[in-house]
Amino acid sequence: MLANTSRHVSYCRLCASSCGVLVDVEDGRIGRILGDTQHPISGGYTCPKGRRGGDLTHSPDRLTTSLRRSDRTHVDGAGHVPIATADAVRDIAARLDEVIARYGPDSVALFTGTQHNFAALTPLMARAWFRGTGSHKLFSTMTIDQSAKWVVAERMGSYLGGRQRIENADVWLLAGTNPVVSGNGGDGDGAVVQNPSWTLRSARERGLRLIVVDPRRTETAALADIHLTPRPGTDAVLFAGLLHVILAESLHDHHFTAQYVADLPQLIGAVSQVTPTVVQRICAVPAEQVVETARVFAGGSRGMATSGTGVCMGPHSNVAEHLLAALNVVCGRFLREGEPADDRAVLTRQVPARAEVAPAERAYRKGFRSRIGGLRAIRGELPSGILADEILEPGPDRVRALIVSGGNPAAALPDRDKTLRALRSLDLLVSIDPWMSDTARLADYVIAPTTMYERADHTMIMEPFFPTPFAQFTPAVVSPPAGVVDDWRFFFDLAAASGQPIKFAGRQLDPGDPPTADDLLAMAAERGRVPVNDLTAAPHGRLAPRSDAIVGPADPDRAAHRLTLMPDDVAAELRSALAETTAAVRYPFLLTVRRIREAVNSTGTRVPGLVPGGINPVSVHPRDLTVLGLRDGQDVEVRSSSGKLRTCARSDATLTRGTVAITHCFGSIDDGESGANVNALTGRGQGVQAINAMPTLTAVPVAIAAIEDHERRTP
Ligand code: SF4
Repeated sequence: MLANTSRHVSYCRLCASSCGVLVDVEDGRIGRILGDTQHPISGGYTCPKGRRGGDLTHSPDRLTTSLRRSDRTHVDGAGHVPIATADAVRDIAARLDEVIARYGPDSVALFTGTQHNFAALTPLMARAWFRGTGSHKLFSTMTIDQSAKWVVAERMGSYLGGRQRIENADVWLLAGTNPVVSGNGGDGDGAVVQNPSWTLRSARERGLRLIVVDPRRTETAALADIHLTPRPGTDAVLFAGLLHVILAESLHDHHFTAQYVADLPQLIGAVSQVTPTVVQRICAVPAEQVVETARVFAGGSRGMATSGTGVCMGPHSNVAEHLLAALNVVCGRFLREGEPADDRAVLTRQVPARAEVAPAERAYRKGFRSRIGGLRAIRGELPSGILADEILEPGPDRVRALIVSGGNPAAALPDRDKTLRALRSLDLLVSIDPWMSDTARLADYVIAPTTMYERADHTMIMEPFFPTPFAQFTPAVVSPPAGVVDDWRFFFDLAAASGQPIKFAGRQLDPGDPPTADDLLAMAAERGRVPVNDLTAAPHGRLAPRSDAIVGPADPDRAAHRLTLMPDDVAAELRSALAETTAAVRYPFLLTVRRIREAVNSTGTRVPGLVPGGINPVSVHPRDLTVLGLRDGQDVEVRSSSGKLRTCARSDATLTRGTVAITHCFGSIDDGESGANVNALTGRGQGVQAINAMPTLTAVPVAIAAIEDHERRTP
């Protein structure tokens, strides 16, 4: 190693895997990034985007100072000039105060994106600021790709003893997720997050039967014992069919369902007509494969069915997720009284596990009500599917000021034209982003934050994803540019500038005496069982001993609570999914979205050389290409009932015929270099879920045609 080069132990914060890394720093710049072979969880694994973390930090369009729009002409991306962050904070606070004084607190909204959640302090301090505004208008990416999981808990209830985990499972079903690429096999259950290929292969070697549900032969599906390829958008029917077989053959857990389910007969009745033959007709999955899958899943002694974003982004997503969760319930895939509790809390507070049910509350029927569709918040958040309408539709509490933290709604939200129109019409748009994303280009102020290796951090918020109790602290390994701030500090200063109280981790902070990041990291974790100071002596992270907590008995007051598997509205949604027929004449293909190793949502899509060619092709089965008279690499136009986009076609034999795929969150509003944005094809035209206003973002009917030479000249 050169004399001016140093090596630092840290961990990557681009996704929930939190892989351990070794970062070589040369003359203050990040050079090579290697997997940390001494890391107890990731064991040296990294993915391409993680290894290019230096390019993200030092890329040409990395912002090294905050920006202010210099005029009000709203020429996208033009007219931004540098501004000291302290001055920007003062201006923004004054304008927010003005908006709130004139229109009330609900005219201010906060939108948080994926990257917002990968710094321990950002969500906590952003919420502290947001609470102080008095607004109810909180939005996030969660409600455009996974809110069906929240709806399930509201309508079914939750078992509080804990869920079985993949580490000791003998069967697992992954639906609409590709953890070998994304690292994520489920929501917070830790299924296959770290070193995913190795984890899955090892599990199979010890006997786990892996079932994958995906219309594409994904990298994960290639490892599966059973791969089901349902027609996109028919997951609800497939899961109902699996339940039908399990219940008809009495393969379910009689003891668990008798103890914890209120309405098993209603579930049996609702799925009684969904025979394997019906599944074959609607989902194009052979009837015998439905039967085999149901028997394999129910025949395992431990293991769950989990999903990523694929099921939640499709049509009928709420009932599909509900039925997937019902598979786990009828098979009793939960920890029972007296078993060791699944306690991975190290820096967070331990919550006792109890063998009882928190019943369905349907809390979305209470609390703040949006004037858009009368929708209410779920878990404190309004659905991001209505954000554009919240901005555009006249009304006394119309959103006029939007703060965007670690997200890119201009690229991520459905109905791109409408979303851009909404963002352009705001009185105040602030983007906190290290790069000039589409949202930043539209913003009045762009706050330039530190990137991951420029800030201290710990793994507190990632604990549910680790396979065993584990925690890691990292100091900053390079100095940030002089003009940037930690995200949390922006929110702290913004609250202080508006004279708002700042309550953090249960205590009131003094606005005149800003804490350090290290102070806040210690405060945030002070209810954990390992002090943050102990972590500094363990640079590769620390495995905490498993606690001796066990799943306790039900509280007598709650012992009679039960899960609800088939309430009337879920039954009606299942009937609707069964009745749907595809009108495939005008739009003969079904478009799905796919993840790639090189990018996580918007992050990575603009790193030079990371995504091949910086393009975002539409993948098409080679025989479909032939039928369409297209060739690999040819420029094409993709159309849906909501819009159209131009890209190139890529031959991909992993797809089932009739299904095409595009990666989401690509594209730029002011150049053609960043690939096509799939949300040009999405909108309300494809249907919207009740309760969470979730639009259909996958299984979108589309048509594909060549772009003729004369059209290419005159787009
Ligand atoms: S999987 Fe990749 S992006 Fe995620 S933490 Fe590991 S190296 Fe980083």
